[in-house]
Amino acid sequence: VSSVDYRQVVEQIARDVRPLLGRGAVADFVPALAAADPKQFGMALSTLAGEEISVGDAGVPFSIQSISKVLTLTLVLGKLGEELWQRVGREPSGNPFNSLVQLEYERGLPRNPFINAGALVVTDLLMRLHPADPLGVLLDFARTAARSTSVHIDGRVAQSEKARSHRNQALAALMKSFGNIDADLDQLLDVYCAQCAITMTCQELARTFLFLANRGVVPHTSQRVLTTSQAKRLSALMLTCGLYDESGDFAFRVGLPGKSGIGGGIAAIIPGLLSVAVWSPGLDGCGNSLAGIQALEQFTTATGISVF
Ligand code: GLU
Repeated sequence: VSSVDYRQVVEQIARDVRPLLGRGAVADFVPALAAADPKQFGMALSTLAGEEISVGDAGVPFSIQSISKVLTLTLVLGKLGEELWQRVGREPSGNPFNSLVQLEYERGLPRNPFINAGALVVTDLLMRLHPADPLGVLLDFARTAARSTSVHIDGRVAQSEKARSHRNQALAALMKSFGNIDADLDQLLDVYCAQCAITMTCQELARTFLFLANRGVVPHTSQRVLTTSQAKRLSALMLTCGLYDESGDFAFRVGLPGKSGIGGGIAAIIPGLLSVAVWSPGLDGCGNSLAGIQALEQFTTATGISVF
């Protein structure tokens, strides 16, 4: 495994995905995202042995959107433990990420933490655990894990998302009616939209996810944020629920636990070995980066390394 020439693999991928760039549709639900150039592509690798490799636009900051759901879940699961599962399930939903239908007949208990309803519950818990400054705690964690002070919340993205968050408001209100949200709804939506607006580069994102490849310990600080079992469980959730309604196909094609966001980013890990981040804003019909999935598929094919 250690003899794999990652640089060569990653550089070949960057050449091979070129015909895909510009093909997908850029997310347009907030104007700040719609302005992204769909021809951009970046990929970064961060290994537990300390190797870092990046190509293309890996140093360009982008909106990580739903990838942030992994970070809030880490903070909440690490602190709350098993109690979390009374508030949110761990089963793929088979429905769109922002669907209201299932939530009604399942009485306000979201299927998993990576659909919006589940993420809203996790954010609600983050606010309960850190009432003074939930976003400060989240940002601190992201900056420490990314080893970068440039990681920030893009206020413009957060604001325009809040202005168009009617469906997320509906999800939160429906769950509150079932007693599964404690926070004030307006404050909850503020924190949720701000967390989605966290901005990072592929290089920072690859480093950030290294703690999951390292079984719950941030490698460079030796701080344990999840137990080994929690890291395994969170990774299992990424494998089964991390890529919207394409999670099964991603597991089939790529074979890694990953989490995508509609900004076009995907972060994935190989436990015990490395973390990899890709970004290209053109999305496929499920809301995942078209070139990003192709790049990760080629990565596990070319290296022969996956979790299987
Ligand atoms: N922030 C967006 C929302 O809550 C979506 C995030 C995403 O799926 O990447 O609707």
